[in-house]
Amino acid sequence: ADAVRDVVDVVVIGAGQAGLSAAYHLRRLGARFVVLDANPAPGGAWQHRWRTLTMADVHGIAKLPGLDAPHADGDTAARDTVPAYYADYEDRFGLPVVRPVRVRRVANADPAEPTGDLLVHTDAGTWRTRALINATGTWERPFWPSYPGAATFRGRQLHTHDYTGPDELAGLDVVVVGGGASAVQILGELAGGAASTTWVTRREPVWRTDDFDPAAGRDAVALVEDRVRRGLPPQSVVSVTGLALRPQEQRAAALGAYERHPMFTAIEPEGVRMADGTFRRADAIVWATGFRAVLDHLAPLRLRETSGGVRLVAREDAHTPTTAARDHRVQLVGYGPSASTIGANRAGRVAARSALREVERTAVA
Ligand code: FAD
Repeated sequence: ADAVRDVVDVVVIGAGQAGLSAAYHLRRLGARFVVLDANPAPGGAWQHRWRTLTMADVHGIAKLPGLDAPHADGDTAARDTVPAYYADYEDRFGLPVVRPVRVRRVANADPAEPTGDLLVHTDAGTWRTRALINATGTWERPFWPSYPGAATFRGRQLHTHDYTGPDELAGLDVVVVGGGASAVQILGELAGGAASTTWVTRREPVWRTDDFDPAAGRDAVALVEDRVRRGLPPQSVVSVTGLALRPQEQRAAALGAYERHPMFTAIEPEGVRMADGTFRRADAIVWATGFRAVLDHLAPLRLRETSGGVRLVAREDAHTPTTAARDHRVQLVGYGPSASTIGANRAGRVAARSALREVERTAVA
C-alpha cells in the first residue's frame, strides 16, 4: 500500500456544483477536509459541454451558497461562464481543492474495522479520512444502450458526451436517439445544416406547453427521491420534468425536426431499420441517451442494493437523503434527486452536516 499523503476528517470527491456546495459548508463548520478533483481546471463537467451550448440553452444555473450566479449574456458559452464562476468561488472561499487528482478506489483502512477510517487511493497518493462526500457527477459515464447491428454501422456514432456542435454533422443524414433535453437541443442545432434528421425515442416525449411549473418540478424531484429511498437506480430529474421548445428551437420545429419516431429495431451498415420495417439511410447516429452515476471507485464499500441503486437515507433533513444506507460514513451528492444545480446545493449542506456528525460519532467511540 502507498504511503498516506494526508489525514483529514472529510474527503470530498469532485468539484462540481455538488462538491463545491459541500465544501462551502464544511469550511463554515470548521472541518478539516480536502476536495479531490480529476479535472485539470475548475468547472466540473461544465468545462466539457459542447461549445454551442449557451447560457440561453441551459435551464439556469442555481447560485452556489454565498455568491450570486453570473449574469451572463444568453449567447455566451456555458462551458466558459460556469467554470469562471466556480473558479471565482473556489478562490473567494479558499476551498482546498487539489487537482488533477483521480480517485481510483476507496476502501476500509482496516478491513477488520468496517466502521473505522477510510483510505482514498488516488493517482496522486492516498488520503486517510473518517468520512467521505462523493460528488463525482455523471459526465464521465455516458450511457450507450445496445442495439443489434451497432458494430456493423459504417457511419459515425457519437454520444452527447463527445458532441462538439452542429458543424461536424453538416450535410449528413443524422439519426438522433433519446427523449431528453439534450436530444431536443441537438436537433434544434442540426436542423437546416444536416441533410436530414430523424428523431427516435423509446417513449412518446412529454411536452410542456405552459411555462415551467415549479410544482411539477418538485413532483419530479420527489419521484426520483422516492426511487433512491428504495435503492432503485435513479432516473434523471430533467427527464421527468417534461420537454419544452424554446425560441431558438422554433425554426427546427417548423422544419419538422421534432416529428418523433419509435425506436429503431436494428442498426445496419448504411442506416437503421425503423419499427415499421422501413429502412432509413444514415451517416451518423447521435446517442443522446444520458449518463449514469460515476461510482465505480466506491465498489469496495459495497454500497449497492441488489436492485442496482445505492439506497440513501436522510439523517439531517428528512427531505434530503444523502447518506448511504449501507455505510453511514459515505454521503452521495449530485446523485438522483440532487442531480441538478439546485438539488446539489441543498444536498451539499445536508451532506456536510451528516459527514461531520459521523466524524463526531467516531471521535467519541
Ligand atoms: P459535475 O459537474 O459532473 O462534477 C463532478 C466532478 O467530479 C468533475 O469535476 C469530475 O472530474 C470529478 N470526478 C469524477 N470522478 C472522479 C474521481 N474518480 N476522482 C476525482 N474526481 C472525480 N443542471 C441544471 O441545474 N441546469 C442546467 O441547465 C443543466 N444543464 C445540463 C446540460 C447537460 C448537457 C448535462 C449533461 C447536464 C445538465 N445539468 C443541468 C445537470 C448537471 O449535470 C448538474 O446540474 C450539475 O452541474 C452536476 O454537478 P455535479 O457537481 O454533480 O457534477
